[in-house]
Amino acid sequence: MQSIRTRMAPSPTGDYHIGHIRTVLYNYALSKKHGGKFIIRIEDTDQVRLVEGAVDRILDVIGEYGLNWDEGPKKGGDFGPYTQSERLDIYKDHAQKLIDGGNAYYCFCSKEDLDQMRKEQQAQGLPKTMYDGRCKNLPAEKIAQFLSEGKSYTVRLKVPSGETIEFDDEVYGHLSFSSDEIDDTVLLKSDGYPTYHLAVVVDDHMMGITHVMRGNDWIPSTPKHILLYKAFNWQPPIYVHLPNLKEQGADRKLSKRFGSVFATDFLREGYLVEALLNFLMFLGWNPGGEKEIYSLEEFVNDFEISRIHKTDLVAFDREKLLWVNGYYIRSMPLAKLCKSVKDWAEKFEIDLKCGEYELDYHLKVLDLVRERMKKLSEYVGLTHYFYHKPEVSPELLYKYAKSEERGQEIIGSILALLENVTQEKWKTADLEKMCHENLEKNDYKTKEFFMTLRVAITGETATPPILEVMELLGKELVLERLASASKL
Ligand code: GLU
Repeated sequence: MQSIRTRMAPSPTGDYHIGHIRTVLYNYALSKKHGGKFIIRIEDTDQVRLVEGAVDRILDVIGEYGLNWDEGPKKGGDFGPYTQSERLDIYKDHAQKLIDGGNAYYCFCSKEDLDQMRKEQQAQGLPKTMYDGRCKNLPAEKIAQFLSEGKSYTVRLKVPSGETIEFDDEVYGHLSFSSDEIDDTVLLKSDGYPTYHLAVVVDDHMMGITHVMRGNDWIPSTPKHILLYKAFNWQPPIYVHLPNLKEQGADRKLSKRFGSVFATDFLREGYLVEALLNFLMFLGWNPGGEKEIYSLEEFVNDFEISRIHKTDLVAFDREKLLWVNGYYIRSMPLAKLCKSVKDWAEKFEIDLKCGEYELDYHLKVLDLVRERMKKLSEYVGLTHYFYHKPEVSPELLYKYAKSEERGQEIIGSILALLENVTQEKWKTADLEKMCHENLEKNDYKTKEFFMTLRVAITGETATPPILEVMELLGKELVLERLASASKL
């Protein structure tokens, strides 16, 4: 079998969307599974929509998600250049071949002509406006004259009339289109740049791409590509269109109103790459079992095109992503998690506010809080009282004892109790025993006792088991905080 070559072809018109990373992931997996190659190609032919710096940002974020390419920008390869603006002569030659073969034609219509044409068609109530083909049959002398006068032109695809254009999609099955619905699309623009349609076909062919895997919003473009393959007498690649992403519970694409949409923003928010990839794997694919946690390696191994969902849109369930991330945070080796927090903070210039402590202390803190942590960005909020004396609100402090008097009584009794505990006995189990004896003796309710203690020490109502927190903070700090609380 021919070696599999897949590609992702970003247009640098803005930052990379999380949905693009899903598509990169599938392309990556298909090629890796079969020992093939994954290629990145930059499609920068729309000079008007180019965004400064976008190429680098896109390449960086693909790398940050760990989906490295075998050929492409910054990497090279035998089929370069991998940036379309560096391949203009290739497209020009191919456009010429199409003209010579009678599959494309010069169009000398000006922008004003085209605007006028559109307006007239709209006024006639046509469902969609299309080029009316007025330059299709220009006599050769006229063309030669215009060209010699240096008149501006584009090259258009000559779409045959009354034909059916069909192709098989690995996900959506056999698809057919009437050629009468297809516009004589511009292939080469007046600025000498190709349009997407010409460039994508020429490059996919010349770069030996075997599988074109992309969002299903490209299905309507595919018949044009099929016509081009036919005109060049080339074999089209295998098409694998993927369901696009939508917000969970809404029939709309991902929107900032619901949360992050750009790949880099999910990293900034404190999602782990492993968790994001694991979540993205299931957006349009399912191995058919119960297993939900997949490493990239396992995914590469199990990925099958036949298991891609034949649906228009798949739901991007943000709650599920949070769950998967929490799962990874809870289950990864502690030292690795600690490094992830540190690297994340460094990369996004976040102040962890955790001062100068030994690594061992940070690890213990992290071990205590990670049960509750769903995103790395929650670290500061979950750990501040391990590093700094908290602000304690009197309202919260007395909330559980129901009155200031009873709250203070509880704090006083704990202070008296703990003052005499030796360092050796400052252990969760011993503290627990003492506290329970104390609350029974004084007839305090468990909740009012421990919640008052928790608020006094941490300023928070939700923390890891408070006695474990106390063991880690140490006697001195705990007594200091209780003493401050007793003065509120
Ligand atoms: N440059 C196109 C994009 O921005 C690529 C589409 C394709 O994969 O053919 O998505």
